[in-house]
Amino acid sequence: MNRTSFELLILGSSSASPTSSRSSSAQLLNIAERFFLIDCGEATQIQLRKFKAKFQSIDHIFISHLHGDHFFGLPGLLSSMHLLGRKQTLTIYGPENLKSIIEAINKVSETRLNFSINWVFTKNQGLNLLFEDKKIEVYSFPLKHRIFCTGFLFKEKPLPRKIDKYLLKKLNISVADILLLKNGLNVTNQEGQTIQNKEVTIDPDIERSYAYCSDTIFNPKLKDYISNVDLLYHESTFLEEHADRAKKTYHSTAKQAAEMAKKTNAKQLLLGHFSARYSDLDLFLNEAEPIFKNCILAIDGKKIKI
Ligand SMILES: [Zn+2]
Ligand SMILES: [Zn+2]
Repeated sequence: MNRTSFELLILGSSSASPTSSRSSSAQLLNIAERFFLIDCGEATQIQLRKFKAKFQSIDHIFISHLHGDHFFGLPGLLSSMHLLGRKQTLTIYGPENLKSIIEAINKVSETRLNFSINWVFTKNQGLNLLFEDKKIEVYSFPLKHRIFCTGFLFKEKPLPRKIDKYLLKKLNISVADILLLKNGLNVTNQEGQTIQNKEVTIDPDIERSYAYCSDTIFNPKLKDYISNVDLLYHESTFLEEHADRAKKTYHSTAKQAAEMAKKTNAKQLLLGHFSARYSDLDLFLNEAEPIFKNCILAIDGKKIKI
């Protein structure tokens, strides 16, 4: 059986200034047909159109911090959602000041959105549960940047055990007991025999996870929040030759991102938020791969299956 979708689309991979081939930070994560927009740099709505993502199916937007390259696309996206007749509530997770910015824009432009916004404010401490449903949990965690900034952790909840339907019938197990089996319990069949869970079920797929670490200085404390993820996005604004600049501006180098992937025992590392000064992105891989083998580059339009 095919697993449910868990796929990331890169919408923007540039740092402060966009380039002709790299837009500002934004990603679209699809987990089981729930669409999460992560950061919303300038031109995000154009990128969504360009890469054929349906933006009215986005019900949750996560903003890491209030530097323009992470949210300047939000007023435009909200306006287009409104003009295209959106009615369903949109939840925006981010710093508290974001609400006043959006409200001020709507006030001066005398815009009354057709849909309501549910605001969830991120906090400066620990792992905070922002969203959950029966399949997914999303947390924020603090990053170390020049201004208040959080990362986001997306996790599938543990999946139920898989049942062998043929055996279920053969052993005369009632349909009502399926839930017990899925939860790992033994059951009694219609002849009164105890059926061991192991006889009719197999282990479920291991739950998948994605951690998004936008702007941050190298911070070993991240290990407390995001160990063992399947995919770690860690900013790598600079190469080591500009390590001083990285430190001064609270950003990281590709080498530091690789060290973080190693420290947190990630399975794969996604590098992004590249400074506009670099045109050859392979230099980032060359720097990261000797430390952490499984690295990929965020390229606008790239889809990554987790
Ligand atoms: Zn940034
Ligand atoms: Zn920033």
